[in-house]
Amino acid sequence: MNEKNIQKRIEKLRELINYHRHLYHTEDKEEISPEALDSLKKELFDLEEKYPQFVTKDSPTQRIGGKPLEYFEKVKRENVMYSFNDAFSREDMDNWEKRNQKLLLADYSYYCEPKLDGLAIELVYENGILVLGSTRGDGLVGENVTQNIKTIESIPLKLKGDYPQHLIVRGEAIISKKEFERINKDKDIPYANARNLAAGSIRQLDPNVTAQRKLDANIYSIVTDLGQKTHQEEHCLLESFGFKTTNKYNKLCRNMDEVFDLYSYWQDHREKFPYEIDGLVVLINDNNIFHQLGIVGKAPRGAIALKFPLKEATTIVEDIKIQVGRTGAMTPVAILKPVNINGVTITRATLHNQEEIERLGLKIGDTVVVGRAGDVIPEISKVFPELRTGKEKAFKMISSCPSCGSNLVKKKDEVVWRCPNTKCFKRKIGWFKHFVSRGAFNIEGIGPKALEKFIEEGLVSIPSDLFELKEGDILPLERFAQKSAQKIIENIQKRKNIPFSKFIYSLGIRNVGQKTSHSLAKRFKTIEEIKNASREELESINDIGPVVSESIVEWSSKKENEFFLNELKNKGVRYFLEEQKSNKLSGKKFVITGTMKELSRELAKEKIVSLGGEVYSAVSKNIDYLVVGENPGSKYNKAIELGVKIINEDDFLKMIK
Ligand SMILES: [Zn+2]
Repeated sequence: MNEKNIQKRIEKLRELINYHRHLYHTEDKEEISPEALDSLKKELFDLEEKYPQFVTKDSPTQRIGGKPLEYFEKVKRENVMYSFNDAFSREDMDNWEKRNQKLLLADYSYYCEPKLDGLAIELVYENGILVLGSTRGDGLVGENVTQNIKTIESIPLKLKGDYPQHLIVRGEAIISKKEFERINKDKDIPYANARNLAAGSIRQLDPNVTAQRKLDANIYSIVTDLGQKTHQEEHCLLESFGFKTTNKYNKLCRNMDEVFDLYSYWQDHREKFPYEIDGLVVLINDNNIFHQLGIVGKAPRGAIALKFPLKEATTIVEDIKIQVGRTGAMTPVAILKPVNINGVTITRATLHNQEEIERLGLKIGDTVVVGRAGDVIPEISKVFPELRTGKEKAFKMISSCPSCGSNLVKKKDEVVWRCPNTKCFKRKIGWFKHFVSRGAFNIEGIGPKALEKFIEEGLVSIPSDLFELKEGDILPLERFAQKSAQKIIENIQKRKNIPFSKFIYSLGIRNVGQKTSHSLAKRFKTIEEIKNASREELESINDIGPVVSESIVEWSSKKENEFFLNELKNKGVRYFLEEQKSNKLSGKKFVITGTMKELSRELAKEKIVSLGGEVYSAVSKNIDYLVVGENPGSKYNKAIELGVKIINEDDFLKMIK
């Protein structure tokens, strides 16, 4: 992008962000998730940092919260109520630390608190009596909501202990998950999230309504100068005055490693926290340094909100490509500008079919919201036409197979176009890819490029041929050294015996995924039994409906599949029935650190979970075992400190045998 386009992008981003912020902060509504909004703000923040010439005073990065509502009395405060910039990764945090160290070289520790997702408030006490409660508003001018705040039982109307004559504190009005559920239970249209409900409740005109919703509040900072030297000290003072704090969860961390240990701990345990939290607030503990670092834009330099990884983010669709699947299905795939979601870099998202593209109104070049839940393939949920430049291109569905040129066909009632040619090269590759994939034969070391090569050279024509490959067959091929050729053959031969469910999945029956394969393997003992099963019999299985049963019956009736099964048998492939899932690690909690020799970390995790155990990323005293590989990290010392049982890889392998 040239500078002019960047400036335009910045302007459009601002407009879009302002629109959604207004909805969120002033009207307590949302059209996009807070995560998607955060992601847009992050793009703007990064662009402005790179091109400071385009920063303007009215940019959302320079503003705080929302405008005060007309019907509340305005409160003008002496000290602006700032908010914090966001960070999402270790890289973001290291950059933040470097920037600060450049301004002020010093040795300091970080005070970390769970970041509550509610509405920021300020409270003023005179002679120990609550006299004023206000919302953040635009930072300088807030709304007077004293009457509503007085209905919150955890806010003291009168202070305890050795309080000063005049005291200003700040905190967060929140709604507990329990209370949120209670309120939502008898609502026809439930509230979208606890944050909006808390905000809407505080900004009620009728304090009786506020009182009916049992709001809560945690207080986290003192504005008045009481000579407090550290942020930690402030928290202790707040507790002594009778405020509710998150003190028991807060932690002083000596360095960024410790911050991230805490971060991953909370990430694993956020479900158990009584309130919604969306990350950690990390502050330089030394108040003197904190104040010296000053303010940039709308936020103090000495603090940052380290947010949990996003399940959604915004990015740009750079292209739409057609992927040919093993059944010949043509799936449009969005090629994305790389974006990090939940710790993984995402570069593609499935678009399923042409109708989905039309439903989204997606064009190539559009900015979109992309999400990823668990291990599911990422999907696009929203398009922002507001950010278009006019250079976006419409997608045109192809009519012939990009691999073999056959005219595509579409069944009645179906939305998917398919290549009908069973000999189609791309289809064949799709079939092989499926066959060697993790859920199927799980043959390591054979990527799509290698498969293509094997097929092109005529070494294999159907997946069962893989079991006859010899080292000498692939050695002459370019790019295969002796060692890797040997390894590949070994990997193939190792998989001649596989669990029945994986065998079923490997056959590539349309609509039969891993879960259905498991269900089938539980009910039937042989593949012949499945082939002979009636539709009724199949549909008596829990997650099998008419569509799946038809696919299975259709697959069973085809001669070529009979042939393929025979081929597998002839090549020595056997399946075995899985034992009932063992629960020998039931309830045991594990953390893994360092590099393992035999198992990858992924596989070790899989093993533990399959045996009923749980895997965490941070060591705490609730952990039963720390599994230590080579070069263990700081978790090792922590486990010793806490007396957590430490086992090496050999012990672990014995345990899961
Ligand atoms: Zn084709």
